[in-house]
Amino acid sequence: MSKRIAIVGGGYIGADLAKSLDDSAEVSLIEPRSHFVHAPAMIRAVVDPSLLDRALIPYDRLLKNGRLLRARAADIDESGVTLDNGQRVEADYIVVATGSSNATPFKPEGDDVDGLRRANQRVHDQLKAARTIAIVGAGAVGTELAGEIAHAMPDKKITLISNLDRLFPTMPDKLGTALAGKLRDAGVTLVLGKRAENLQSLTEPYAGRLALSDGSQHDFDLIFPVLGSRASSDLVEGLPGTQKGTANRVKVDPWLRPSSLPNVFAAGDVADAGDAMTIVATSRLLPWLKTTLKGLMAGKPLDQMKPYKPWGPNAPILVPLGPKRGNSFLVLFTAGDLLTRKMKGADLFLRKYHKLLNRPES
Ligand SMILES: Cc1cc2nc3c(=O)[nH]c(=O)nc-3n(C[C@H](O)[C@H](O)[C@H](O)COP(=O)(O)OP(=O)(O)OC[C@H]3O[C@@H](n4cnc5c(N)ncnc54)[C@H](O)[C@@H]3O)c2cc1C
Repeated sequence: MSKRIAIVGGGYIGADLAKSLDDSAEVSLIEPRSHFVHAPAMIRAVVDPSLLDRALIPYDRLLKNGRLLRARAADIDESGVTLDNGQRVEADYIVVATGSSNATPFKPEGDDVDGLRRANQRVHDQLKAARTIAIVGAGAVGTELAGEIAHAMPDKKITLISNLDRLFPTMPDKLGTALAGKLRDAGVTLVLGKRAENLQSLTEPYAGRLALSDGSQHDFDLIFPVLGSRASSDLVEGLPGTQKGTANRVKVDPWLRPSSLPNVFAAGDVADAGDAMTIVATSRLLPWLKTTLKGLMAGKPLDQMKPYKPWGPNAPILVPLGPKRGNSFLVLFTAGDLLTRKMKGADLFLRKYHKLLNRPES
């Protein structure tokens, strides 16, 4: 008899895993949103809202055999998942992939995909009307946002602010130096090594005055707080023996188990398995999860299967600055405009995820 697998969350981990096990297990994918939210395209969507039509992809064609339950998981135990509508999903194995939240308008609040559409349009209108723009936080999202605005709206005066002295300080120097040079070429002012002390919101763009840690004050027509993702770990936190790490993520053992429940796994942004909170991490997590779950279903004991091996600090990263320029760290070397454009900047992986959701683009 085939095994029952409950997957909580249909993001980059959950959607792919559900589809790949659809023929070999009884899959229940629990996901409250109507659409898959393709985060990499949400940055360019701030300058081009028409991109939302492609960046929000309906879930309805994802599974052929398994069931897609449009609800939020409220509770987990060893024998299954209880949904917020009271429904019970019995399962032999449970994978929690509840991901993370981020600032407006990059990810929806909860399941509110229409709210994300409205937020995108509102922030786009604010951006069009603004002359001076501050982006606070120069991780990948902040840096890409500066590049997208500079490319699409070259008349804007953009300031990218980071409390760190360099862009991408944990990566080889060449990446941050090249990106900083290209941003400056495009007219972006970089304020590095200074902290914004008085952010009025950590999640909503707003107009106002920023006080920096050097004592200076600056007025902006629009301030984007871009301070990183925060894991959605409420559901796993209640399980026996869980421990929190950074950014609200839960810790996991070498087989990605966050608690003492032997058949409950957690992966992706919600779980700190030694990878950053990126889709790139899924390129290792997904093959491991697929092999391990198939092994378990075939009767192999977990401790006789290989533990998960993360990317660690040397994972690749692709940072487009608009559709044409950018730089990427590709482990063996740092690439420039051409490869960054071909690998990500031109299409933002949209074709790949349309194909995953069984809605291939011609
Ligand atoms: C603007 C932006 C751009 C990015 N660009 C890139 C990029 O170019 N490259 C890259 O590598 N990474 C990028 N990232 C990071 C990437 O988006 C995340 O690492 C990725 O989304 C993590 O996938 P996930 O499956 O863990 O979670 P998510 O994609 O966050 O999906 C989690 C899912 O779980 C659902 N969920 C939450 N709680 C419950 C519950 N209780 N019950 C049921 N379902 C629930 C949510 O509705 C959601 O659909 C970007 C992030 C942002 C914000």
